[in-house]
Amino acid sequence: MTPSALELRASIAGGFITATEACDSVLERIETAGPRLNAFITVSGERARARAAELDRAGAAGLRLAGVPIAVKDNICTRGVRTTAGSRILEHHVPLYDATVIERLEAAGALVVAKTNCDEFAMGSSSEHSAFGAVRNPWDVERTAGGSSGGSAVAVAARLTPLALGSETGGSVRQPAALCGIVGMKPTYGRVPRYGLIAFASSLDQVGAFGTTVADVATCLAVIAGHDPRDATSGVMPVDDYVAATRENARGLRVGVPRALVNDGVDAGVRRAFDEAIDVLRDAGAEIGEVTLPHSRYATATYAIVVMAEASSNLGRFDGVRYGSRAPGVETLFEMYSRTRALFGHEVKRRIMLGTYVLSAGYYEAYYLKAQKVRMLIRQDFERAFGDVDVIATPTSPTTAFKLGEKLDDPVQMYLADVFTVSANLAGIPAISVPCGFADGLPVGLQLTGRAWEERTLFRAAAAYERLTPW
Ligand code: GLN
Repeated sequence: MTPSALELRASIAGGFITATEACDSVLERIETAGPRLNAFITVSGERARARAAELDRAGAAGLRLAGVPIAVKDNICTRGVRTTAGSRILEHHVPLYDATVIERLEAAGALVVAKTNCDEFAMGSSSEHSAFGAVRNPWDVERTAGGSSGGSAVAVAARLTPLALGSETGGSVRQPAALCGIVGMKPTYGRVPRYGLIAFASSLDQVGAFGTTVADVATCLAVIAGHDPRDATSGVMPVDDYVAATRENARGLRVGVPRALVNDGVDAGVRRAFDEAIDVLRDAGAEIGEVTLPHSRYATATYAIVVMAEASSNLGRFDGVRYGSRAPGVETLFEMYSRTRALFGHEVKRRIMLGTYVLSAGYYEAYYLKAQKVRMLIRQDFERAFGDVDVIATPTSPTTAFKLGEKLDDPVQMYLADVFTVSANLAGIPAISVPCGFADGLPVGLQLTGRAWEERTLFRAAAAYERLTPW
């Protein structure tokens, strides 16, 4: 069995293996298994080896992630290591600085071994919208890994790295975690600093983490969470002891199920696995109740408008002047803009155009403003529900991993893959996906959503569930 991040850390801190040995073995696996799954865009072996050597020299016993290799989604900036966001337009972009999360991970002893493949600018639910080709699901290489952080999910699911970072705007950590059979968490909006995360939709974006166990993800979040003066949206709330929370039981925990939502449009096999998971939580001592989230059926539409509006604004910076590539051989300014921006892929262009439309004079009130109002109602639904329960449980995704190409020509079907995940982003609250069995041989995820800043409750519930199941 491949060790968890915490087991590996213990072996290194205890002197049983060196950080360099851990690093080399992971790099070797990335080289042999990586290409078939197309999970990585850039391998940062040199950087990882240098950090490992440093740890072996200076001693790493006190560090929370001593010698633990981690893969990082390629929309998170790494100094001196190419960071593409899965886009042609940033194909040769080498950042001059590290994201805060990278600084914190390395300070805690983690080794950044590779940058992972993802949907271009994190726009997608299948990791097919990447300029570097589609990521493949290790459970069935003809299927998608989910997205947009598909490469990160695959790195962990295929046991190539024990941990990975992803980013979330509408489910991009939880959904691929579910489709690949691992744990994935999206923290509260503002919990983790975004300095160095390439912006997609700024009122939603958050960094999240993948692991094979709840405790590994809790450890990773504990390392990267907390205020950073370089990100004005990062919160000043104290960071709880997430790892301690994973040792608590679920007795008395109130879990709410939005039955109407779950019964609608969920594959039979996914629903079966979900219902069994609820029974397990009940056996663990949780009190199961029902909640209603009446506005959640508008979540996907609301999300689409907000996300496209913000994307169209954020992506204005890729103009051939300040970052990344500029189309060669252009003669006029207009030509430079238009030919450079033609480097964007299809999905990114679609979102920029739709986003520009919903923000344009005459349509702003009808679309953007209205979406903001519905967003508030969705948020209030959660606040009301969390008066009665501590955690809300749903499937993470309505289906298991779909076939590559299956939804590629039908953007609406692709957006509907996110029905259960986008509301947590709109409401700014934390949510976690844990493996809850299989349907037709493919993994299913259980999603637990909690109150803002109460990640610890999610870790407690998810770990209590994990202890009682073999997944
Ligand atoms: N799949 C969603 C989208 O396409 C979410 C993406 C994300 O969370 N980055 O926008």
